[in-house]
Amino acid sequence: LVTSVAPDDATPGAFYTHVPKRSMYYEIGKDAAVCGYDFIAGSNLRGIKDKKGNPTDLMKYFVENNVAVVRGTDALETIDSRRVVLLNTDSINTGNIGYTIDSIPGVLTLPVMTEACLRHLQKNGRDRFFMMVEGGNIDHASHANDGATVIKETLNFQEALKVAYDFYLAHPDETLIVVTADHETGGMGLGNNTVGYNLRLKYIDYQKMSKSAFSRYCKSLMRDRRVYRWEDMEEYLTDNFGFWKFVPVTQEQTAKLKEDFERCLVLRNGKDKKTLYDNFDEFSQTVFDIMDKATGLGWTTNGHSGGLVPVYAIGVGAEKFASFNDNTDIPKIILDIVEGK
Ligand SMILES: [Zn+2]
Repeated sequence: LVTSVAPDDATPGAFYTHVPKRSMYYEIGKDAAVCGYDFIAGSNLRGIKDKKGNPTDLMKYFVENNVAVVRGTDALETIDSRRVVLLNTDSINTGNIGYTIDSIPGVLTLPVMTEACLRHLQKNGRDRFFMMVEGGNIDHASHANDGATVIKETLNFQEALKVAYDFYLAHPDETLIVVTADHETGGMGLGNNTVGYNLRLKYIDYQKMSKSAFSRYCKSLMRDRRVYRWEDMEEYLTDNFGFWKFVPVTQEQTAKLKEDFERCLVLRNGKDKKTLYDNFDEFSQTVFDIMDKATGLGWTTNGHSGGLVPVYAIGVGAEKFASFNDNTDIPKIILDIVEGK
């Protein structure tokens, strides 16, 4: 089980635990220790600390069940345990391994974890196995309505898929790869009334940081009381979002930006917006609204949507996924294929 978010989050958790609430991290962690999966990887196990930040006795269960819990792939090489939990090198940000767009040095990535998992299963001599790889950060960035970050995460997911695809090419008669999602998030649409029929996705490459990282930056400005002028912010927006220089920003939008900058960051009078995994300051909202207007992306929600999701499949039995699928049929079809039906 591999994910770019926390291994005790909803999707990976659904594969090994049954608890009444997704926030029961300690109980979910205990099930991770006894569940029998060879390899679980992601950002952090949130049950190792209690709500006050004090360590719990969760690690004891991993030790008792001979599960090695390691941070970073270097540490993986040094252990010979059959069962492994691989966590991120960054133990501060617990919710995800960090966004691809933020290029945080030294952190785990989805392709690296996917490769490490395949290597580990082969080392364990697993002739038959099931593997789940979740691009969980795609969902997190979609909750934030952060288009460039969603797209960069999807490309990173594709890199992980390449690792699996190479495995398929080496074992074409024994491998099935299914790519799908349990839901769409954000109601992301391509096209809005500003760009008409001319989507301008090229502008996303001028965005150098996630909405989370930008909002953290804005909040840090509000915290330390040093003088930070509109001219400084203008330069920052040009460097990190290409505003004015590459991404067109109208006079009206510039006036709104300046006004919101004064009200939110100088007078500290903005309203935060809370989403499932984040809390954004109001100025960041304004910046990302302008970015969306320029690229042509649109959103309907900060939650999950009822939009159809694709199901792609290749390998043994792939044809069984053609046409529309009820999501609850997917595991049943996989089981049929495994049983040779
Ligand atoms: Zn979600």
